[in-house]
Amino acid sequence: MNNKHKILKDIFGHEHFRSFQEEVVDSIINKQDVLTILPTGGGKSLCYQLPTLLMSGTTVVISPLIALMQDQIKALNDLDIKADMISSSQTNDENGFTMQKLLRGELKFIYVAPERFTSNDFVGVLQRININYFVIDEAHCVSAWGHEFRAEYRNLDKLKRLFPDTAIAAFTATATKKVEADIASNLNLQGAKHFRAKTIRNNLDIKVEPRISNGKKQILSFLKAHKGLCGIIYTFTRKEAESTAQFLCENGYTAKAYHAGLSPAVKDEVYDDFVYEKIDIVVATIAFGMGIDKSNIRFVIHTSLPKTLENYYQEIGRAGRDGDMSYVYLLYSKSDEVKRKIQIEDAIDTGYKQTGLDKLEAMYRYCVSNNCRHKIIANYFEDECEDCKTLCDNCTKGDIEQVDVSIDVQKFLSAVYRSGQRFGVNHIIDILRGSKNQKLLEFAHDKLSVYGLGADKSKNEWVAIADKLIDIQALNLGEFRALKISTLGMEILKGNEKVLIDSDKLGIAQKIEEEVT
Ligand code: ADP
Repeated sequence: MNNKHKILKDIFGHEHFRSFQEEVVDSIINKQDVLTILPTGGGKSLCYQLPTLLMSGTTVVISPLIALMQDQIKALNDLDIKADMISSSQTNDENGFTMQKLLRGELKFIYVAPERFTSNDFVGVLQRININYFVIDEAHCVSAWGHEFRAEYRNLDKLKRLFPDTAIAAFTATATKKVEADIASNLNLQGAKHFRAKTIRNNLDIKVEPRISNGKKQILSFLKAHKGLCGIIYTFTRKEAESTAQFLCENGYTAKAYHAGLSPAVKDEVYDDFVYEKIDIVVATIAFGMGIDKSNIRFVIHTSLPKTLENYYQEIGRAGRDGDMSYVYLLYSKSDEVKRKIQIEDAIDTGYKQTGLDKLEAMYRYCVSNNCRHKIIANYFEDECEDCKTLCDNCTKGDIEQVDVSIDVQKFLSAVYRSGQRFGVNHIIDILRGSKNQKLLEFAHDKLSVYGLGADKSKNEWVAIADKLIDIQALNLGEFRALKISTLGMEILKGNEKVLIDSDKLGIAQKIEEEVT
């Protein structure tokens, strides 16, 4: 057994390398720059921790979150490997003490946040020590095309200038080809080895459904069908996390809420209760989960639409890291998209706004699509994949009755056409349902021949029809989400093509309307 395999077994306790781990380890040992895209649970930490144990210096790990660093340091210390961090959560004295340890060569790993590189003192210390290589964790934060751009990461372009002979190993779970190229160019990686694992997580069974009312009944029936399993439920707000946790306790489950509004002591308690299996369920905002050290999470539920497919993929990736079958369930509604849009409009600088809206759109399209869920995710990350056939609701739902909605669709397309292809879904539905809203009257759309022609259908049924048209690309979304009719759409409008829709899609739309009104 060579050294590498011996360390894998004796120190990390694993029999075999997982896909790509050995190749990445070898490249790092050979002092090459690497850019590795491995799904959550793929075992990225091992890729950059193992080579250090074959080297004499210190490895500098740049990571975006203090909680992540703490978890990693604890895990390394538990293995008797000397690791520490320099961060804003420590006092100046503590950080000074750690710098002394660094200078004396006592640490195998030093974890730091990217902003540390703006400090000359810190860079000065690094210039005096023996660095094995730099690790950049969550490297997608470097790219403005990614979903979590962080300005401090941009600053890391100086690493190669300051340390031209030190290799960089960058890691992320999620990067489109565009983001991958952007990371490499921003970090000045030249001739780096790129490793990209397949996106598909074939131990995840995916289900997506429109949310009925507040979704609590749907959650209960999911939990009944997956009795005794442990998992995370992601909610949109802190309040919802609290109320859902309470609701689950009242229904006989062991659940606790976790969100940024809780004190560190309570958060630690919830985390420990979950990891040590005192409770089965954590109901959390997205604050929970990054770096969580629990490989047997069996389900992840989202009670509303995530911000992006990158976020979603990362969050569902927390299920089944041990490779066993796990279940992910997403509940969404059109109103989530509206709420998210407001968040994006309010919070993000204009440069990112369009990207944010496009990403949200892709997330919503994923929900309403009839295609294989795994394939949509893979395609989104520019990876190829066959239909999963057995691992998602769209592939396994069998023959659902199809309803011919061609006449309704013609009404919808006609309203888009007659209002000049300049308006979004909601406005078109207002025209069809004969709304008297101000914007509609200002444009004199109450004078159009299609005005009120669709009053027999609920708003949600029209949303389901619009979603279908966008899904099959009879309609495309232009600037400001204005609907544009494609060539296929024109054929449908002329009555040359039929449109069929799954009866359950319309059925669910009706049901939501009934429960809400
Ligand atoms: P990532 O950072 O890619 O999401 P982690 O590094 O946290 O993944 O690893 C996920 C889980 O897989 C951890 O519990 C880890 O101990 C385990 N793991 C990593 N490599 C191996 C391996 N070669 N064999 C078995 N388990 C592994």
